[in-house]
Amino acid sequence: MGSKDEDVTVLLADARSQVSAVTAFEFRSACKSYAKDNVSTAVLKDVSLSAKPGEFIALVGPSGSGKSTLLNLLAGLLKVTSGEVIFQGKPVRAVNTQVGYVTQRDNLVPWRTVEGNLALPLEIRKVSRAETETRVRAAVEQVGLSGFGKHYPSELSGGMRKRVTLARALIYGANTLLMDEPFGALDAQLKLVIEEELMELWHAAHPTILYVTHDLTEAITLADRVVVFSSRPAQILAIENIDIPRPRDLNTTRFLPYFRDVHERLWALLKANLSDTRENRHG
Ligand code: ADP
Repeated sequence: MGSKDEDVTVLLADARSQVSAVTAFEFRSACKSYAKDNVSTAVLKDVSLSAKPGEFIALVGPSGSGKSTLLNLLAGLLKVTSGEVIFQGKPVRAVNTQVGYVTQRDNLVPWRTVEGNLALPLEIRKVSRAETETRVRAAVEQVGLSGFGKHYPSELSGGMRKRVTLARALIYGANTLLMDEPFGALDAQLKLVIEEELMELWHAAHPTILYVTHDLTEAITLADRVVVFSSRPAQILAIENIDIPRPRDLNTTRFLPYFRDVHERLWALLKANLSDTRENRHG
């Protein structure tokens, strides 16, 4: 029989693992510094954030504040300096192959067709040929690219390439998507169309999404919660629940009085931090 302290430890560990089971990912007092030429630069400071499975979290903050760094920590491409990053109940200690990563650049392989690009993550995971063909066919349809499976990336429009990228990020069953300004380079109309498609995919497959954007309107329109980062070293200034019912009409959501209130509040926070950055640079 263990001591009282041991019993308490076991109970705590038990309770913690139950909490972990209901969180998709969690940053616990995560700090990250980069060292160069013996100079250490703090980028993230005590970031604590957890996501429920299927939640859509948008992250906004000044450029260079550490947003991509946060995604890279969850992807296991970087390690925290202190604190912890937990993914589905376990600390991230190596490259996290269970997340899909979508960036502004689509990184499609130019000499592979749409089908070939979609098959790539499955080939790497040694999924059988028959299973790969079935999944690729379903993915092509899911993102509305039927008839384009044999096309090469150079034969596709910008929007189509984005759709392939989204399908590729989801094809191996990743239930978490890390998205780093994915639609930043698209024109305003196309961006709206692709955002609507992303919402449809999200409603259908319901992945957890951590979505970095510099566009506050986009963040509030899409997300369940918006996290606002300060300038570097990034700390969380606000976490705002977005209580706009779904499905949302992305075109008109921004005209709701509620939307305007939230936007005004979060923009005031962001603006104060942008000027901090300028003063720091000149000061
Ligand atoms: P954001 O995505 O918010 O624009 P990043 O996470 O890309 O910010 O970068 C945050 C800060 O960390 C920037 O000042 C950047 O120059 C610095 N940084 C990013 N990656 C590295 C690295 N590998 N080595 C040194 N500094 C880096």
